[in-house]
Amino acid sequence: MTKKIFRSIMLVAMAALLAGLAVVTAFLYEYFGGVEKQRLRDELDLAAVSVEANGAAYLARVSSDRCRLTWIAADGFVLADTQTDAETLENHAGREEVRQALETGTGESRRYSSTLMEKTIYCARRLSDGTVLRVSVASATVGLLLAGMARPILLVLAGALILAGVLAGRLAKRVVEPLNELDLEHPLENDDAYQELTPLLDRLNRQRNQISAQMRELKRRTDEFAQITQNLQEGLVLLDHSGHVLSINPAARRLFAADESCVGQDFLTVERSHEVSAALAAAMAGGRADARIRCGDRVYRLDVSRIESGDIPAGAAILAFDVTEQEDAEKLRREFTANVSHELKTPLQGIIGSAELIENGMVKAEDMPRFIGHIRTEAQRLVALIGDIIRLSQLDEGGEMPREQVDLLEVSREAAEELRAAASKKNIGISVDGEHVSLRGVRRLIFEAVYNLCDNAVKYNVEGGSVSIRTGTDGGFACVAVRDTGIGIAPEHQGRVFERFYRVDKSHSKASGGTGLGLSIVKHAVQYHHGRIELDSAPGRGTEIRIYFPL
Ligand code: ADP
Repeated sequence: MTKKIFRSIMLVAMAALLAGLAVVTAFLYEYFGGVEKQRLRDELDLAAVSVEANGAAYLARVSSDRCRLTWIAADGFVLADTQTDAETLENHAGREEVRQALETGTGESRRYSSTLMEKTIYCARRLSDGTVLRVSVASATVGLLLAGMARPILLVLAGALILAGVLAGRLAKRVVEPLNELDLEHPLENDDAYQELTPLLDRLNRQRNQISAQMRELKRRTDEFAQITQNLQEGLVLLDHSGHVLSINPAARRLFAADESCVGQDFLTVERSHEVSAALAAAMAGGRADARIRCGDRVYRLDVSRIESGDIPAGAAILAFDVTEQEDAEKLRREFTANVSHELKTPLQGIIGSAELIENGMVKAEDMPRFIGHIRTEAQRLVALIGDIIRLSQLDEGGEMPREQVDLLEVSREAAEELRAAASKKNIGISVDGEHVSLRGVRRLIFEAVYNLCDNAVKYNVEGGSVSIRTGTDGGFACVAVRDTGIGIAPEHQGRVFERFYRVDKSHSKASGGTGLGLSIVKHAVQYHHGRIELDSAPGRGTEIRIYFPL
């Protein structure tokens, strides 16, 4: 800016200087021109008097180099000339000044020489005898004048230039200094600045305030976004249009085993799997895509969406959900459906087989009760199975069931009562003792859990064995322990007996009317009440299963 101001001042100074020079030159030229003309007229007057008196003899005596006198006859014939032989000169009647003098008495004209550097001024006068006396003098043109004044002009110009340069430099500095000293951080505090800058500084201040407000808002949003994504269970990765990582939250870093340094790098260096690359390409082309990846024992679903700014794709967002539980549940459901079909099919085939034999008359009369008994047992098993499946699916639905105060000792006594007949068939004694522990829960579920435990304790017991049910409290839990003196469960089966349709000895279970779902229902009922199960068992010695419900 200083340079620009300096240049402008210099330019103006130069222009003013040249204009001044031109005006002065023109004035001087005009003035000296006038003076010279007047002198020429005076000289002509004097010469006219002398020529009138002495004729050509006077002209012969004139020896001036500067002035030239020419005496011309009325017909233009040159009678005498002070610088040239008159006879060699052509007729002067056509010369303008001569013509004017012949007509009006006086005449003047000027003519430039071919170089234009010199001009000749002519003054003519008619004498009393009708002849014309003419005086001429060579005079400098403006060009010549300037050429003659070149040295002083150049000197003045150089001096003026140096002076203008120094002054322009100082002036430019003085103009720019307050601008350089402006405190742009606090625009309104510049009291010494130019008045003309006040609107600009006001605007600057407003814009600064606006920008700081926008920056604060931006920071707030960024912090909010960071807070949300930091604590997000789902992995979130943001990519730019060329697939480079813009942001990756901790969950996604754990999932892709990456660290913060991956920001700015191509996402393919973080995750190379073909599925993810294909999903990314599909999302960039079509807007959305998903992929499934396995990471250790977990399964993740990646939801890839294209981000657009205006109509232009600006990048992509990858959201990773842990769908392991969903996958497991789906797998369980598939297995359960297959198992249910199988479990239902077996008794039905038995029933159909027995009925066909009876229908075709292939069963002897004495065997008839056994076949009909078989059909009844299978049908009973079907009913029991369907009952268990219904109970389990109700539990699976997970809806809220009405809760009430439940006394565990009473529930245990009821269950024992219902099983007493079945137990007595095997000479098994059932005892119930303990405290009246009351908890808020779903009575039907708690009864089913205790009943199933007692049922198993009878079913997998030995002839003449015993079952003891004990209620009490343990820490903050209400507890029911069902102990039997039965066949026990080998350690390798203990972890699996709570799975659906898992049976240690399939034929024994079936023979005793088991469905393979009893302990699953127990597990679900306890989980519904946020309780826990413990199992102690030794083959040949018996089993104790304890269920705990939080109080
Ligand atoms: P089931 O209808 O076959 O009894 P459960 O789910 O109730 O099905 O039990 C699963 C398996 O666990 C049974 O088939 C049985 O082999 C074993 N089991 C359960 N309770 C006992 C127990 N008290 N003593 C020995 N084995 C048991």
